[in-house]
Amino acid sequence: MACSAKQARAFVEKYLGDNADALNDVINALFWYGEPAMQEVRSAALLTGILEDGGFQVDRGISGFPTGFMATYGSGSPVVAVHTEYDAAPDNSQKPGVAAHDPIIPGAPGHCEGHNVNAAVMIASAMATRRAMEAHGLSGTLKIFGAPAEELVLARPYFVRDGYFDDVDVAFHPHLRERLSTEYGILQRAVVSAEFIYHGETAHAAMSPWKGRNALDAALLMDSGMAQYREHLCPGMNMHRVVTDGGNQPNIIPARAAIWWFLRDRTAQGAQALFEQARKVAEGAAIMTNTELEVEVKTAVWPVRGNQALAEALQSNIDVIGMPAWNEDEHDLARNLQAANNADEIGLEPEADTFDGPSESIAAANDCGDVSWKVPMGRLWFPANIPGVTFHHWSAGSALATPIAHKGGLVGARTLTATLVDCLTDENLIADAKSTFANETAGVDYAPMIPDSNSPPLEANRELMQKFRPEMERYYIEPKNCFQ
Ligand SMILES: [Zn+2]
Repeated sequence: MACSAKQARAFVEKYLGDNADALNDVINALFWYGEPAMQEVRSAALLTGILEDGGFQVDRGISGFPTGFMATYGSGSPVVAVHTEYDAAPDNSQKPGVAAHDPIIPGAPGHCEGHNVNAAVMIASAMATRRAMEAHGLSGTLKIFGAPAEELVLARPYFVRDGYFDDVDVAFHPHLRERLSTEYGILQRAVVSAEFIYHGETAHAAMSPWKGRNALDAALLMDSGMAQYREHLCPGMNMHRVVTDGGNQPNIIPARAAIWWFLRDRTAQGAQALFEQARKVAEGAAIMTNTELEVEVKTAVWPVRGNQALAEALQSNIDVIGMPAWNEDEHDLARNLQAANNADEIGLEPEADTFDGPSESIAAANDCGDVSWKVPMGRLWFPANIPGVTFHHWSAGSALATPIAHKGGLVGARTLTATLVDCLTDENLIADAKSTFANETAGVDYAPMIPDSNSPPLEANRELMQKFRPEMERYYIEPKNCFQ
């Protein structure tokens, strides 16, 4: 390693140690904001404010997402990007550090996975890397992307479609889990998110039902058809739905009903094929009920792929940095949450993962999938949650503004930053990432699956936040410690 690289590595380690309180403050502030998809107004303002104060050029509202942003520092090559999410989710308000279901505000949204920690890690790494670039004369461009609405798998296909990754050489996505690890290959599933909306005609349900055309019947028949189709799903496919409109009251035949599906597969083509099958089932239900069908594709994303060269670079830093030293209080909270969740009471993970070949993809999706087919992408999992808790359940919210998230976030920021410095100081790494990426994606013709006519759903979760924000604001805390 060249002298300047060694000095930059030492610089970022010291910087992150010195700025740990600022990192913790961002983790906590985002947690208490608890803003769901498309409503991350305070979160985006906090993150872009830190970057702007830190000397980044900030473009807000990219691709029509009011809470999305791109922040740029430096110029020329290599162009190294980091992107992550900061949305909470509906239904999962939970007091931090409490090992029982105890909402801050019943019915309010809340962080129930840890995207608050993801974004704080990205910001701390951005600031550390940017200071090292200045202090040690590292050339290149750092691009930091704020990606709204990951829980709706929304933003990044738009960013890719609109050219924001055209000049990017390599990209990284930090996301928390319970261990410090990385992997390569296909990591997560493709998904098509589509709403099937039926239009019928109202009538008095007792006096003249024969005059009505029942849209709810159509939605239920589609659901039944999809249940029958489950037997024929290929391994790796899965699907789930919510009814978003089922009519207004029983004595009025519903003129409108809607059912919203997530349709997943290991490949983009498989998810698309499952969507086409769902459309046939939906059309059958419309024929049976004399209703009209409208299909709205809300979003569609490619499966997440990890690049091997970037995974190896991340792993070499994981091997050096390792897991946080957890204390007994932290293990106790973990064991109590595991007990409450009927999981093995093993406490927190003591060891970082070793690196053993291509990954087995998990059944969830992430909209960063589209980035990962556009440019070589490294995925860093860092340890800021508890083994055995269930994501999108209150138990996964409890650790997210406690020392478990703080210590795990710091380890994540150190690992990510060390790897960003590697990318800015080792041109062979960028070349390896590009050549392995070319092999990994050979024969695949990537194009975003989102329909050209789609635009960001600005109304998503708006009513929910209009209802809960005034009460949630009473708990908001603003960071006291600034990044230097
Ligand atoms: Zn997530």
